[in-house]
Amino acid sequence: MATANKVLVIGGGVGGLAVAIGLHQQGIDVEVVERDKDWKVYHVGIIVQANFVRALNVLGVGNAAVKAGYAYRGARFCDVAGNVLKELPGDTAVDGLPSDLGLTRPALHKVLTEKVLELGIPVRLGVTFEAIEDRGDGVDVAFTDGTRGSYDLVIGADGNYSAVRKTLWPDARPQYTGQGVWRYNVPRPAEVDWSDLYIGKPKGKAGYCPLTPETMYIFAVFEEPDNPRFAPETLAEEMRKRLEGYGGVLGEAAKHVTDPELVVYRPLEACIMPSPWYKGRVVLIGDAAHSATPHLGQGAAMAIEDAVVLSEELASREVGDALDAFMERRFERARLVGISSIRLGEWEMKPEIAGDPIALTDAIRQKLAEPV
Ligand SMILES: Cc1cc2nc3c(=O)[nH]c(=O)nc-3n(C[C@H](O)[C@H](O)[C@H](O)COP(=O)(O)OP(=O)(O)OC[C@H]3O[C@@H](n4cnc5c(N)ncnc54)[C@H](O)[C@@H]3O)c2cc1C
Repeated sequence: MATANKVLVIGGGVGGLAVAIGLHQQGIDVEVVERDKDWKVYHVGIIVQANFVRALNVLGVGNAAVKAGYAYRGARFCDVAGNVLKELPGDTAVDGLPSDLGLTRPALHKVLTEKVLELGIPVRLGVTFEAIEDRGDGVDVAFTDGTRGSYDLVIGADGNYSAVRKTLWPDARPQYTGQGVWRYNVPRPAEVDWSDLYIGKPKGKAGYCPLTPETMYIFAVFEEPDNPRFAPETLAEEMRKRLEGYGGVLGEAAKHVTDPELVVYRPLEACIMPSPWYKGRVVLIGDAAHSATPHLGQGAAMAIEDAVVLSEELASREVGDALDAFMERRFERARLVGISSIRLGEWEMKPEIAGDPIALTDAIRQKLAEPV
């Protein structure tokens, strides 16, 4: 196989935009199709750590992401009353930039889309693929707008419910893990400078993370037997029920959860693909390849690390070798994050098999501080 000169990215989310920037930096022609004509993202907060900042810095947007978010001191574990059990301070991976960061998903989207548009990378909104035909020496793609294109490589960056994955691996699909996550943005009390996780309540945990000087978001991850569907008007009441019994800052912040329309509830569904994440000249990155639960706050960072590594490998090797090198550098790391995140949730639901969540979280944070 020759090197990749022209690449299609399916999905203009975190990983898709990051890989488009990375490939453009390496001098490779890249175009993006995004199914959503409005290119919208959930209005929620995301928690990220030093490896996210490092990977975005490689793409030239580390500073912009830091400015768009709120840098805090690290993660802390607290008991149900809010007493601190353990501090896991953030350790920067890039001189001059912080490690742990909270930012809204729209803020991250803005940073990435502005860079993509500034670089002149073509993005077609409201368009996806209809058929993908791998000819061996290239891939022909038919699009829903009636056009066709030929590429050296197609990257499926279309998220947890990936249509690219479904086309190539029809049996692989996300599985409900037994828990759901509740999120709500609230005012940030001036003293909140850590992301705090309150543990010890049966079947789950809750906490908060600063997002801006004015705001933070509360999250609650709990067992939700039989994957229920909640009536939209009950969401605030249901979220408050899960926050009952907490003291400290969380107990006070929970009082702000009043508007059901502002609650974001998601059942947790994970899909960790075995190696390799490619078939011929079609490769998956991000959640399409390894969606996990949010217990380690690593989904966005894993997608961006995939993007950086794939761009680097495609710049220096022919396509087949580049995909093997990509798997070599990415598989174990992403799998470790995925299975560890799912394990933390299982421990919350089944105390009889639980290990030490603080020690596991600390170990993974240290592992991810190592370069990719
Ligand atoms: C509510 C919520 C909170 C989260 N909180 C955190 C957090 O705190 N920390 C963290 O690190 N991660 C968090 N995540 C996870 C994180 O957002 C994902 O892991 C990350 O966005 C993965 O990037 P991705 O590019 O693989 O997928 P996405 O960012 O989901 O992007 C996929 C894109 O593909 C598009 N698409 C889908 N299907 C098609 C198709 N057929 N054709 C074309 N385009 C398509 C979608 O519209 C979307 O734009 C959270 C996720 C959710 C939903």
